[in-house]
Amino acid sequence: MGKDVLVFGEIRNGELKKVVKELIAAAAVITGETGGAVDAVLVGAGAEKEASGISGYGLRKIAVVDDDAVADYSSEGYAAVLASLVGEEGYGYVLMGATSMGRDLGPRAAARVDGVMFSDCVEVRIDGGALVARRPVYSGKLFVELTPEGDGPVFISIRPNNIAPAGESGGSSEIAAKPSGVDRAAIRAIVSEIIPLAGGRPDVTEADVIVSGGRAMKEESNFRMLEKLADLFGGAVGASRAAVDAGYAEQPIQVGQTGKVVNPKLYIACGISGAIQHLAGMRTSKVIVAINKDASAPIFEKAHYGIVGDLFEVVPILTEELEKMLQ
Ligand SMILES: Cc1cc2nc3c(=O)[nH]c(=O)nc-3n(C[C@H](O)[C@H](O)[C@H](O)COP(=O)(O)OP(=O)(O)OC[C@H]3O[C@@H](n4cnc5c(N)ncnc54)[C@H](O)[C@@H]3O)c2cc1C
Repeated sequence: MGKDVLVFGEIRNGELKKVVKELIAAAAVITGETGGAVDAVLVGAGAEKEASGISGYGLRKIAVVDDDAVADYSSEGYAAVLASLVGEEGYGYVLMGATSMGRDLGPRAAARVDGVMFSDCVEVRIDGGALVARRPVYSGKLFVELTPEGDGPVFISIRPNNIAPAGESGGSSEIAAKPSGVDRAAIRAIVSEIIPLAGGRPDVTEADVIVSGGRAMKEESNFRMLEKLADLFGGAVGASRAAVDAGYAEQPIQVGQTGKVVNPKLYIACGISGAIQHLAGMRTSKVIVAINKDASAPIFEKAHYGIVGDLFEVVPILTEELEKMLQ
């Protein structure tokens, strides 16, 4: 197995995902022990522009792959690019974000090179010369530690917001354009359009602050109240599945086992009971604030701060007080 690490620099809507700098930091943990180098590959529209943004973050070289066949995301096309780079350069490890794209791409790329796939990890390290990847199981109640067997490259997807991002370390990386080698006509499914959420709000998986609403929001228009509070932090708005199922909020902002896994600095849960499936998506938030009128709601067992009260009274007061503080 090679000792070098390849970081997949995911680009969405022409911009590099925040998780990429976290992946660079995770890669440095591996190469700190293996003595290898960390490289990155950026694929698709915007790759060239974004590559210069991570030059100087300790990367040896950055491959830029941006031609018509890979301008838009397809799991087949992008997996072919990753697989051929791994084959050519002999990478031992490939890191990607456990994002929608990373979850789709990783297993397919790993299968193409007979590699191992460890999904949704929160930590990687080298222990006694062997890679150890840690990932939560049973909705975050337990962790397992995985070690690969065999000689194949190890693909690891890492949850966003778990690892402190790499900082600039000076110097610059070699940036080289590469053809994709992909035949667009042979690709059977391509992402031709990404429709942003109404209002263009921040992505829940990347936001530092999330204000979430549950069934208690009663109707879609009441989410404006949460948006107002979230805006004061430049934060995102999330929702429980009950709120999504009731049509109060859109599915892409659902937090939980069948929604997004988030890890913000601050999570404010408004009228959310704290069901295990919701906790599975937000229990690792650094600070959890719960607002619930039922003092025995399970969310209070996980919350660092709890407010027992009616959210329709508490949220406007919180918003008003914060506005005063920020003036
Ligand atoms: C396989 C499976 C997967 C699931 N995946 C998810 C998932 O990804 N995400 C998820 O969230 N759920 C998921 N669920 C559903 C989960 O079990 C719960 O049903 C759901 O989380 C409940 O949402 P809620 O807390 O908004 O609603 P409820 O459980 O009904 O809680 C509403 C809360 O609001 C409080 N409240 C009511 N009025 C007010 C008020 N005016 N002010 C303050 N508080 C008030 C109540 O006291 C109550 O605690 C899943 C379930 C299954 C079976």
